[in-house]
Amino acid sequence: MAILVTGGAGYIGSHTCVELLNQGFDIVVIDNFSNSKPEALERVKQLSKRRFKSYSMNILDSCGLDRIFQEHEIEAVIHFAGLKSVGESAKMPLQYYHNNLNGTLHLCRMMEKHNVRKLVFSSSATVYGHSEICPIKEHFPLTATNPYGRTKLMTEEVLRDLYQADSRWSIALLRYFNPVGAHKSGRIGEDPNGIPNNLMPYITQVAIGRQEKLTIFGDSYNTKDGTGVRDYIHVVDLARGHIKALEKIRNSTGVDAYNLGTGKGYSVLEMVAAFEQASGRNIPFSIADNRPGDVAVCYASPAKAKEILDWEAQIDIQEMCEDAWRWQLQNPNGYENEDNLVTLHARSANVI
Ligand code: NAD
Ligand code: UDP
Repeated sequence: MAILVTGGAGYIGSHTCVELLNQGFDIVVIDNFSNSKPEALERVKQLSKRRFKSYSMNILDSCGLDRIFQEHEIEAVIHFAGLKSVGESAKMPLQYYHNNLNGTLHLCRMMEKHNVRKLVFSSSATVYGHSEICPIKEHFPLTATNPYGRTKLMTEEVLRDLYQADSRWSIALLRYFNPVGAHKSGRIGEDPNGIPNNLMPYITQVAIGRQEKLTIFGDSYNTKDGTGVRDYIHVVDLARGHIKALEKIRNSTGVDAYNLGTGKGYSVLEMVAAFEQASGRNIPFSIADNRPGDVAVCYASPAKAKEILDWEAQIDIQEMCEDAWRWQLQNPNGYENEDNLVTLHARSANVI
């Protein structure tokens, strides 16, 4: 029996694949590489010293998905595949609804057809909208403030309906806070396309010289130093949360949401200071206006995940920065270096 990982070449997916393989799970990966590189999967294989099948495929390809469920004995699915840029989603909402929502519908229909009803879904803290109260608990009101967030919220609702209609389903909705950091080896990490939107990859690109300076969006919030506060969680802690969720859904039925965060909030300036200490590099910055749509403070209550999944984040902010820096330093251009390009060209187009 294997775990199907959609979007397994992506940032969180690749780290979760390593953890799954290290824990002895067999995996099958599908990814259309719309926001990732096949090289990430090569490195997952190197790190875990294990082989697995991976397919260059869109989750909207029903025939392709059908074939995968026929060819492999799939026990459960961890579903990362999706588009994730808030700004982009406002510019091309149809693409986001099609990819994220239709993609998940296609996947669930195929799971049903092949009697696979165990699913871990990548949701997001964005489903809490602009919560005024922190720490945020799972029962807080849900709302969306942009099309990306709406795809997550709508998918959560679809998955709840699925369980209502058929109580054999077992579904974990994992609401991630702010994933940062990279695998200790420095071999896999976050490799955003173009100019990063998120704080940590922006900082690491300033440190390596790919960006000139950091722009801090607002310093007059009602927070300890005026800059925005978030719950940064190490991507390996997050990956381990998926193993715990998988163990839970393997042995039960139902649909439940869990916050995956540390429960601690750090400001932008605190992150800059922690990163400077970890890297020994200076991060020049300037202050600009607030970014539209940003909240002042957002951090999780991770109590439910601790109680029910027996999971809690272990890695502190210093290590998050050290690991993010190691990845950036060893891979100044992400997965795109000359050696990788040679490997890529040599590889077959469809199945790697
Ligand atoms: P990512 O972009 O690195 O990974 C997503 C992967 O899915 C990519 O490899 C991409 O190529 C693939 N993909 C996208 N659409 C696909 C499709 N139709 N068919 C096949 N593959 C497809 O993103 P990530 O940061 O690893 O995020 C993984 C999931 O977690 C996403 O669903 C994202 O919305 C969610 N999430 C991420 C964050 C974050 O800050 N990174 C926070 C909350 C939730
Ligand atoms: N931020 C910033 N400059 C950047 C990117 C982000 O000041 O270039 C701030 C942002 O305003 C927020 C925090 O850093 O307070 C985290 O932003 P990110 O986009 O990483 O996560 P999100 O806001 O989606 O939680």
